Amino acid sequence: MKGFTEPVNYEPGQQTTLQKTSKSEQLKDAILNSLSAQIAVLNARGVIQTVNEAWIEFAKENSQSATTDLRFIGVNYLEVCGGSNGPYSEEAPAAFNGIHAVLQGEIASFTLEYPCHSPEKKRWFLMKVNPLPDFEGAVVSHTDISERRAIDEMKDEFISIASHELKTPITSLKGIVHILQLSFEKKMKGEVGKLLRTMDIQLDKLSKIIGDVLVVNTMPGKKLHLINEKFNFKSLVRETVQNVRNISPLHFLSINENESVSYFGDRFRLEQVITNLLTNAVKYSPQSNQVFINSIVKEGSILFSVQDFGMGVADENKQKIFEKFYRAKTSSLFGGLGLGLFISCEIIKGHGGKLWMESKIGKGSTFYFSLPLNV
Ligand code: ADP
Repeated sequence: MKGFTEPVNYEPGQQTTLQKTSKSEQLKDAILNSLSAQIAVLNARGVIQTVNEAWIEFAKENSQSATTDLRFIGVNYLEVCGGSNGPYSEEAPAAFNGIHAVLQGEIASFTLEYPCHSPEKKRWFLMKVNPLPDFEGAVVSHTDISERRAIDEMKDEFISIASHELKTPITSLKGIVHILQLSFEKKMKGEVGKLLRTMDIQLDKLSKIIGDVLVVNTMPGKKLHLINEKFNFKSLVRETVQNVRNISPLHFLSINENESVSYFGDRFRLEQVITNLLTNAVKYSPQSNQVFINSIVKEGSILFSVQDFGMGVADENKQKIFEKFYRAKTSSLFGGLGLGLFISCEIIKGHGGKLWMESKIGKGSTFYFSLPLNV
């Protein structure tokens, strides 16, 4: 990437000076030079054709060699990334694969955040690769995102400390509620019993929110930690559905299932996914009370789905709802942080499966996940 300072391969006969042939080319250059991001235009083989002034400025500041042509014109940028053994060699293969895939038309675009630290400065860049028309090459841009990353780090640290601090009093409050429930077990029929149960449910909700925030906060760049064990998937589904039935007595949750199956995975996390899909189905279908759960074994995989007949998701939001903190505008009346589906997706991916949805606005939604059988 930009940190790699030596050109690897000048292609013979490569044009090394830009001849501004037309007004439109001059206009393009003026636009490129007005941008603060460092930009290079590559041809179909990944060879740099032109760069903007920000690119040259960056090269000036960071090049270790006085002889290097700072425009890098004629350098094969793919080879620069592929051959890197510098301090950013960890990100280089991802950059190589991304640029290669865009040039080949395999993906529509590519982005990568990568560190570019020096002893004096801690910097982060965002690399974006977008194709030129007709597979004629690509535009690579590098934007300095150090400020945003520093704010993100501060925010993450704050969230992590605050969440850990909140967990302790909640755990002790839950303990107290359980002691009270046990002490009043026989006399629990009246108002006090109801209040204690409500308190217990609300404390569970609070710890779920804190748990979700903590998971998301520790996630960036790291793989979700799974604690795997062998368990019966059918029992997990039945138990989880029953738990949701207890807290959503106005909805009818019916299960369609086939054979009993053993699965090796993180039972707690998968329960979290199923609970999230079920509580969403209930939450986002206030006008309808039917929820269908399908849990079947098919062609070497577990196929699980939850169908509701509620508000549905508009086409333009179907991708976005899986993003961190995204909530459709129509959901603002209902509580939530917009983290459940993001975390669910990560959990299912962590098990080698996939999660997806189908929906029609105003008619309802079906959320699916599949998990390859592994026992
Ligand atoms: P939350 O429910 O806390 O907002 P989620 O990540 O679980 O977070 O869901 C993200 C968004 O996806 C919701 O805010 C809602 O707009 C939409 N959504 C999720 N499930 C459903 C559903 N079953 N029906 C309609 N919209 C849904």
